[in-house]
Amino acid sequence: MNGVDEELIKKIPGLPIVMTTAEWAINAGRSNSIWTLTFGLRCCAMEMMATGAPKYDWARFGLEVPSASPRRADMMIVAGTVTKKMEPVIIRLYEQMAEPKYVIAMGACAISGGPFIYDSYSVIKGADKIIPVDIYIPGCPPRPEALLDGIIKLQKKIMKQKFRTVKEHK
Ligand code: SF4
Repeated sequence: MNGVDEELIKKIPGLPIVMTTAEWAINAGRSNSIWTLTFGLRCCAMEMMATGAPKYDWARFGLEVPSASPRRADMMIVAGTVTKKMEPVIIRLYEQMAEPKYVIAMGACAISGGPFIYDSYSVIKGADKIIPVDIYIPGCPPRPEALLDGIIKLQKKIMKQKFRTVKEHK
């Protein structure tokens, strides 16, 4: 070590010291303990459930047990077709989530309406038409590996989050 007495360093209680920023430490905590509000709307929900089940086991990535309450959820996974009938429900639950909050749009329907993009009187052409979406996962349906990849991308996004840029979703 450049000019530093290593023996002396070893005698100092509490060393070696890990230096970091509060921002990094809090982001690390947030990204590795995400509470999920699962919002299964159609067939994509089957793949979402499989991702949380033992074979794919999203708990390995720090996700907690899916929550039935938006008040303690950090992330909503919109998995499936967003119908106009469900629009007020999704918006209401999203608004009940505390900041900072995140949304994953899982599957073609949640991204753009999927097979219902044309000539549908009842389908909204993507979850981002009604709430802000952070991560898009294409597929019809996406496999569990794709959802896990999206979760990892969200974790990386959370790690880069600056406190001063945490946005208020309205
Ligand atoms: S994207 Fe495909 S699998 Fe997913 S909800 Fe739509 S039709 Fe079903």
